[in-house]
Amino acid sequence: MRYEGMIYRPPSEAYSLIVQVTIGCSQNHCIFCNMFKEKSFRIRKAKEVLEDLQDARNQYRHVEKIFLADGDALVCKTQDLESILHFIQGKFPECRQVTLYGSPRSILMKDQEELDKLQRLGISMIYMGLESGNDGVLAYMKKGVTAQEMIEAAHKVKKAGIRLSVTAISGLGGRKLWKDHAKDTGLVLSEMKPDYIGLLTLMIEESLPLADKIRSGEFELLNPYDILIETKEMIKYLDCPGCLFRSNHASNYVNLRGTLNQDKETMIHLLDEAIKGNIHMKSEWMRAL
Ligand code: SF4
Repeated sequence: MRYEGMIYRPPSEAYSLIVQVTIGCSQNHCIFCNMFKEKSFRIRKAKEVLEDLQDARNQYRHVEKIFLADGDALVCKTQDLESILHFIQGKFPECRQVTLYGSPRSILMKDQEELDKLQRLGISMIYMGLESGNDGVLAYMKKGVTAQEMIEAAHKVKKAGIRLSVTAISGLGGRKLWKDHAKDTGLVLSEMKPDYIGLLTLMIEESLPLADKIRSGEFELLNPYDILIETKEMIKYLDCPGCLFRSNHASNYVNLRGTLNQDKETMIHLLDEAIKGNIHMKSEWMRAL
């Protein structure tokens, strides 16, 4: 297997075979994200990907899950993805799940028929980063898409019968926009109706463009208590029956997990208890990306 640079994958793909079909992220401009800054984006040749898959087949007897990395594997030509998926079907008959990151742009660039076909060939879930449902926050963070485009992308994925996992980031509105960020993120997620929501908490690395804005005083970070208040506000607006909500990433101050909408009150209660100091909050040094 050949890997280039640091490999990122969603926490739920911890036991998946990871194969890079792209290197880096096609967007790579978000000012809060350092994940793929070391890599200049390119799409790998399908032939190389098939060689890696063959190599994995030779090494591993049983592969149940395959994650197509890096940041935006869905940007590949549908034809190339089809040949990769055909190869997986032929060589890994035991594989029951193929997943990838898909940027909203890449999803929107595909016809509905193309997404339908990818689903039939085995794509079972797409991970998509919403980050915020507020257009002001998205523009400030240089995400490159609007909330409405994210909603449209989500509907296309769902229509194709592909499960959708969406991440949002607590604290991304900073002190100025926290309330709008919380409310709009809750409302946009409710329109997207994902199957899974993962809520992370903003963490700042010194080399990020956002770190410069913090140093200059232009962007003010929320403190841990404000983050919990913001999370509470966001959960209030969530209406996604059956969706699994997780906020148990290493970056979060308090771990939350529940099924929407039924567990909303329980999660809000837990946050209230943490705000009152009755539940232990993760110390800053224990947080990680
Ligand atoms: S947040 Fe997502 S889209 Fe933005 S640069 Fe990072 S990986 Fe790429």
